[in-house]
Amino acid sequence: MKTLSEELALRRAKHLYRERHVLESPTGVEVRLDDETLLSFCSNDYLGLANHPRVIDAFRAGANRYGVGAGASHLVSGHSRAHHALEEELADFIGTERALLFSTGYMANLGVVGALTDRQEVIFEDRLNHASLIDAARLTRAKVIRYAHADTKHLGKMLAQTPRPGLITTDAVFSMDGDMAPLATLHSLAMRHNTRWLADDAHGFGVLGRNGRGSFEHLGLTLKPPVIYMATLGKALGVFGAFVAGETALIETLIQRARTYIYTTALPPAVAEAVRASLRIVREESWRREHLQVLVERFRMGVKQLGYSLTTSATPIQPLILGEAQAALDASRRLREQGILVPAIRPPTVPEGSARLRITFSAAHDATHVDRLLTALEKAIST
Ligand code: PMP
Repeated sequence: MKTLSEELALRRAKHLYRERHVLESPTGVEVRLDDETLLSFCSNDYLGLANHPRVIDAFRAGANRYGVGAGASHLVSGHSRAHHALEEELADFIGTERALLFSTGYMANLGVVGALTDRQEVIFEDRLNHASLIDAARLTRAKVIRYAHADTKHLGKMLAQTPRPGLITTDAVFSMDGDMAPLATLHSLAMRHNTRWLADDAHGFGVLGRNGRGSFEHLGLTLKPPVIYMATLGKALGVFGAFVAGETALIETLIQRARTYIYTTALPPAVAEAVRASLRIVREESWRREHLQVLVERFRMGVKQLGYSLTTSATPIQPLILGEAQAALDASRRLREQGILVPAIRPPTVPEGSARLRITFSAAHDATHVDRLLTALEKAIST
């Protein structure tokens, strides 16, 4: 048996060692990290709301009214008026009968998949799904089939050969690539094979669609069974937490059966109050989404001019795939030397040989920030 130190040394030798950096400022366009001021292109605060004065005020007011902790799980005595109001507002916003808050997106995925499948069923997963969906399926001990990325033909074939399909799960916007799942075809397949499907819209909610309702609005689709919608509140909404939305029977089932809902302390109610304020801004300020789109297009045009290849992503997640871990680390370091923060994303977060710079944009960036990034990239990648 290798010692832990030997294993860590091996990891370091493969350029896969992970390290934390200490942030001294709020998340934002400019951050103070390890005593340096850097221009950041790596947060998921896509709309620039994590540090918005109205959201901070709501958080403060929530703490004044409810204190700092929920004190118990939702089913004991932790379900406050703030949680309840937020659930109603989320359901109203995306047009489902009900919504249910979870403490994190990771827990929401674990909860839904565990509550809705049994060991005799088969779970179908896109190969590039987020780790929380992969872990969720593993925990059920059901049979798991991972289909080729976004390949509905492959999935259709597998479904046709499976007597008891239990659930299909997919990222709606893939977290490391920024491309979208073929949601309309997935819905048709789910209907044809009489199976539920779970769409994880962590990176679409608030960002995509004219009103920010997410990937389904973006593609002109309505949210109706058998789809189960999940989105997080710590990315575009800038706060923390997650929710699952759908018909009443789904939500009541999750309340009875989702273990990550039942056996954990409710989110602090002040967090729910902050999300309510943030949701109001998402509804009122469509300029944030429009501006974000302009920045993404400017970046894509600039990258093309530099001669680098881009993925098909039209979302604020714009990866530059560089191949080996070492190449991504080197590029990230050279950006940092020029005052720009974009960490390298390496296996196992992404498949072997596809280490990358995962560049993300926020409505708080402006065109000059994008141009600075492009200039720095030219030096970071060509040298
Ligand atoms: N799903 C996806 C697609 C994600 O990218 C993430 C967060 N990285 C999660 C779920 C987990 O959400 P949370 O951070 O709220 O646990």
